[in-house]
Amino acid sequence: MTASLDHNSLYRLPWTLPDNAISWLEPTAACNLYCEGCYRTNDPKSHKPLDEVAKELDVFMRLRKTDGISVAGGDPLCHPEATEIVAMIAERGLKPILNTNGLALSRELLTEMKRAGLWGLTLHIDSKQRRPHWRGKSEVELNELRLEYAQLIGEVGGLSCAFNSTVYEDTMESVPDVVAWGAQHIDIVHVLVFIAFRAALINGDFDYYVRGERIEFDDIRYAAEGQPRVDILSTDILATIQDRFPDFRPCAYLNGTEKPDSFKWLLTGRLGTKGQVHGCVGPRFMELAQVSHHLRHGRYLAYSSPRVHRSGRSMLAVAPLDRGIARAGFAYLRNPLRLLRRLHYQSVMIIQPIDVLPDGRQNMCDGCPDMTVWDGRLAWSCRLEEPMNFGGFVQTVPKRDGTSH
Ligand code: SF4
Repeated sequence: MTASLDHNSLYRLPWTLPDNAISWLEPTAACNLYCEGCYRTNDPKSHKPLDEVAKELDVFMRLRKTDGISVAGGDPLCHPEATEIVAMIAERGLKPILNTNGLALSRELLTEMKRAGLWGLTLHIDSKQRRPHWRGKSEVELNELRLEYAQLIGEVGGLSCAFNSTVYEDTMESVPDVVAWGAQHIDIVHVLVFIAFRAALINGDFDYYVRGERIEFDDIRYAAEGQPRVDILSTDILATIQDRFPDFRPCAYLNGTEKPDSFKWLLTGRLGTKGQVHGCVGPRFMELAQVSHHLRHGRYLAYSSPRVHRSGRSMLAVAPLDRGIARAGFAYLRNPLRLLRRLHYQSVMIIQPIDVLPDGRQNMCDGCPDMTVWDGRLAWSCRLEEPMNFGGFVQTVPKRDGTSH
């Protein structure tokens, strides 16, 4: 089941290589958890010293306009100087967003990081993590844990709260339950992200080359043998959501570098009161949000503040320009008693990472927001193991007549 979408009816997010909403910093590859879909090899000795982190931030400042910096890994909280790193990003006028599994998070640490300039958190929680006390729990049962973190972040206050999870073939049917949970807590959960599982399948159809040299690819972290499904599309996940919520309607996207009509990032913005979604914003609203932020701040918008997320009512002013907002506003105002309840905005992003096409071309996210730094250059964070292991990105070349070159 896949949804049919016309990319011409959506807003193409304006993000590019040198001018983007987000960038991706990896101060460590160490992690305190095992996630099945992780792209990185866990390395407890990989903490970067602060001067190296500063140099990577300088590369971003030189090569890329960016609004937010995702501080990822590994798990960034494994880095002994994580708070200083947050402060270094904030001092440069950028928004530090922690991408963490949350295991090492405490109220004290969160408060300290907020003081250092933390803008928000994206908590990765899904059922294929070997999470202490939560092993064997379903995606639905994990909503209880998600809520604990959302409440903690809400109590500390002033921080953006996002959750992401990897979507596997056998967990896809739970996505609508997490979407429904998000609506219940639209007042404290600002963003939900669903990432289709990917791994490089070593199935004998391809040879692998780096700078013209043939290499063995099978000992890399995200190379998988066997038959895990690695071709889940963003539109498959969308169809699963729309099956339960037919009014769930994306407004914006990022296309693939090789397939312009593929939806690598698919963004839906919902307006709702706690527990009830009244509608989804349309493409014009997203265009206005991105362009006006760029006009005012010189960069595209990443992670709005909680204050903006709770100002759904003021977003209704855009109703004459955006049919989605007009529909949501009409549904909200149909019952005047609702005026006593705050209208919130929540983003739901679906991500479809790298696809290898039958002819070996690699369909990446065009305008990749998760570019990191490798060797002084910008590099796809989802494929960082390749330059680290082989000195460059791997090209996939179909074998001739099923034989090796
Ligand atoms: S190209 Fe890779 S790193 Fe960039 S956004 Fe897509 S999945 Fe993420």
